[in-house]
Amino acid sequence: MTKDKIYYTKTGDPFVDGGAWALAILNEKSNPYNLDKADFETQLDFISDLYVKEKWNKIIYSVFPNSKLINPSVKNKKEAYYQLLKELCNNVIPLMEKGNCVACGKRRVGSLRTKDQIPLVGSNKFINFFPSGVEGASFCNVCTLLIQFCPLILYKSSQLVLIQSSSDLVMKYWVTKVRKFINEQISLGEFGGCWDSGITQPINSLFDFAKSLILEYDIQWFEENPTITIYHFTNYNQGPDLELFHLPSTVFRFLAYIKQCSANDAWNRIVRKGFFKIKDESSDEQIKTAFKKHRNSVYTNLLKNKSIIKYFIDIKNHKAEGNWALISYYLKNVRSMKEERITAIKILGDKISDFIQETNNLKRLHQLEMAKNYFTFRNLLRLISKERLSTNPEEPLIKFDDFVKDLFPEDALSWNETRDLLLFRLYEQLHEYLVKNFESIKEEIEDIEEES
Ligand SMILES: [Zn+2]
Repeated sequence: MTKDKIYYTKTGDPFVDGGAWALAILNEKSNPYNLDKADFETQLDFISDLYVKEKWNKIIYSVFPNSKLINPSVKNKKEAYYQLLKELCNNVIPLMEKGNCVACGKRRVGSLRTKDQIPLVGSNKFINFFPSGVEGASFCNVCTLLIQFCPLILYKSSQLVLIQSSSDLVMKYWVTKVRKFINEQISLGEFGGCWDSGITQPINSLFDFAKSLILEYDIQWFEENPTITIYHFTNYNQGPDLELFHLPSTVFRFLAYIKQCSANDAWNRIVRKGFFKIKDESSDEQIKTAFKKHRNSVYTNLLKNKSIIKYFIDIKNHKAEGNWALISYYLKNVRSMKEERITAIKILGDKISDFIQETNNLKRLHQLEMAKNYFTFRNLLRLISKERLSTNPEEPLIKFDDFVKDLFPEDALSWNETRDLLLFRLYEQLHEYLVKNFESIKEEIEDIEEES
């Protein structure tokens, strides 16, 4: 292909890029970079026809308000929209050296565009919606035409969602999946509108999407290293709105690691704890509903780069969810924690678990679980260190250097995150011991509570 025949390169505008992927897959091309002039023409009739079907037409209200497709005064909506597409199509030209289109930057803009053709820009009555205070947004004919294919790949989650990814494989997977979904609508003659999995929390839908990619698409996700951003939006006349959620590649790789080390069950239990309203006795149906409709703090913390360590432990049942390999992968790769620090906490946990088993000192375990501040926690470590001397250990519990440098460095984990990590290791190491001694733990706890 010669350079003057290139019609599309990635623009960074999610509506243009999404539309380009939709057009490519409709034309059975493996990616949009080799779209040619003829490809633009082949699908105009298809989308004009689809967008006037009742349930698809409803979506258009939130994507292209005031469009000819939904304007009650337009008699033949399909024909009117087709003419708009045709006009854009007649002006399709390859990318140039430069241009003033805000999306591609490589073609000249003919007329300014408004929200009946470009989502989330203004209409010419409200020029304050446009950065330069002019009556429209500067999109070239080709980018405007590509955007018209975007509704095909949206999905519903409360409002509409558009997916953008750094990875072509992710885009290809998604667009191929919705293409199949639309084909089924065509063959059944039942046009139910865009993809809708019933998940009304957009963040949950983002994690569900990542999970389906990892489970259904067997490729080297660690090498692909994708980021995924979703745009949860409505362009509805009465209240246009936009929220953005970004899944970093570190979190995506962590999700891929969960599958690779077969930790799905543990991960499901961890995520379940992020639903505020889900209790131990909740039914499967309630849990299923929560995944679709309720906010989840494990998911939101992952997107905000906040810690999820506390969800890896179950203090009530003295249990660790998953194993040390899983939590240390998370700490190292998602939270960027240094290896030395992870190892220091692990070694401390191992020493304390040996001490508890040798001395049957469940009281200290319970006190660690209940510690409410840094002072109490530090004091408990000091007491354990002293009591441990009775077991003639080869090494002290904590060397001062480790304490300052690796256990409680400044600007790292908070004291209670360090405590939670320590508990995780204790629960993991003491698992069999705790199961065997469950009754005495209960008695021990009751005694301590009576004392206090
Ligand atoms: Zn353009």
